[in-house]
Amino acid sequence: MSAKWEVVIGLETHAQLSTASKIFSGAPTAFGAEPNTQACGVDIALPGVLPVLNTGAVERAIRFGLAVGAKINSPSIFARKNYFYPDLPKGYQISQYEKPIVEGGTLTIQVGESEKTVRLTRAHLEEDAGKSLHEDFSGRSGIDLNRAGTPLLEIVSEPDMRSAEEAVAYARTLHTLVRWIDVCDGNMQEGSFRCDANVSVRLLGSKEFGTRREIKNLNSFRFLQQAIDYEVQWQISEIEDGRKIQQATVLFDPDSGETRMMRTKEDAHDYRYFPDPDLLPLEVSAERLAAVRAAMPELPEARRSRYMKEYLLSSYDASLITQSREWSEYFELAFQVLNADDKMVAAKHVVNWMSGELAAYLNRQEIDITRSVVSAPALGMLLKRNADGTLNNKMTKEVFAAMCAGEQGGDPDAIIAARGLKQISDSGEIEKIVDQVLAANAQQVADFRAGREKAFNSLVGQAMKATKGKANPQQVNEILRRKLSG
Ligand code: ADP
Ligand code: MG
Repeated sequence: MSAKWEVVIGLETHAQLSTASKIFSGAPTAFGAEPNTQACGVDIALPGVLPVLNTGAVERAIRFGLAVGAKINSPSIFARKNYFYPDLPKGYQISQYEKPIVEGGTLTIQVGESEKTVRLTRAHLEEDAGKSLHEDFSGRSGIDLNRAGTPLLEIVSEPDMRSAEEAVAYARTLHTLVRWIDVCDGNMQEGSFRCDANVSVRLLGSKEFGTRREIKNLNSFRFLQQAIDYEVQWQISEIEDGRKIQQATVLFDPDSGETRMMRTKEDAHDYRYFPDPDLLPLEVSAERLAAVRAAMPELPEARRSRYMKEYLLSSYDASLITQSREWSEYFELAFQVLNADDKMVAAKHVVNWMSGELAAYLNRQEIDITRSVVSAPALGMLLKRNADGTLNNKMTKEVFAAMCAGEQGGDPDAIIAARGLKQISDSGEIEKIVDQVLAANAQQVADFRAGREKAFNSLVGQAMKATKGKANPQQVNEILRRKLSG
């Protein structure tokens, strides 16, 4: 991209709220059911039915609002957004317009080594529509209303992002947060978390925003990145070729990597929003707000900075173990079992193993940390055996591999016993071995005394070999040095 252009991005994110039933009916929200088996009279808009608000959805919206430091509006108002589409049998979507439940707030993101605060405009409750099915109906379309009425929180950011990388960092941070506070399962393949990216470009230094195009329904971070990259290039070349950008809604095609026009953008007035007469204004009492606040867990950002302060972990390490609550809980448990005097060394020890061997194992198996065969306490115990000198680093890796394979029920001590892996840390025993090595290698001893440091390493190697790698290498080093200098 030429240096004279600046990119401006605002994201609208739809997070499906993790309630068991729909936002205005008792029908289940479970994913993957046979078409039209999870839609009741309210969802298919039978005449005369009335919506009943799901308090679990409201509670989740409040939790989100508090987590981002937003204002919780009371009352907030449900509004009808009117449009025609075959997957919307009522002819309108119930949403919130003028007074959303969540207003303002911020999200802090990490981009490389720097931090940035993105402002949120609002987050409002709404229902999802159904789904049109274009395959399997020989030239016709089917409609599945299972999704109709699924509770969504639409989270709208200010146009504060200045690159695709920032937009992805924002989406990832938001994704971590909504899962952390249990408002959304974050399953992007199933559509539980999807982003619309509003993108415009302007000449660097210009005060006005350019005209934006909105890329709809991006359901992976990679697509988000690719779609924005493509869109930015496209807009710049359009403008440089003397054309004007028209406000529009576009779709990203992952196969071609291109965005293409879906419709020119409708304005809010096209939707004829008005307050839904079937739903009362939504009041949130001070008591209810206080109760939700009291039940909030420590948030990822707070925990991240706590780890950095308490354990002097780097920003990168602290982010790694706060990427989800599961990772953070795994870290905490392993750390507790390791229970070392030096907390900083212990924390770094656990992080190194989680980002190294454990992450590699999870990747190989393509599983989530919650399904790791190596439990957090077992990893903690393994690292304890490394820290207390029972295992040297090579043996630790061997035991870890055995744990991954489920040997001895994954119990490191049982594996150490079964494989006879104890490191030799008895200095008397090591001394004996060193003496034997010195006696058998007179030439190398002489070489070392003549100033050849290499000969020392060879002697260490001999001693390690004599113990089948089980001697504590540090002790071998020390004892050898002492004997050679004596
Ligand atoms: P609508 O409700 O029609 O989608 P909004 O004004 O609410 O429009 O904005 C939607 C999103 O577009 C917000 O995330 C906002 O930050 C973003 N946005 C607004 N103007 C621009 C712009 N010029 N360039 C990029 N993003 C923008
Ligand atoms: Mg929009």
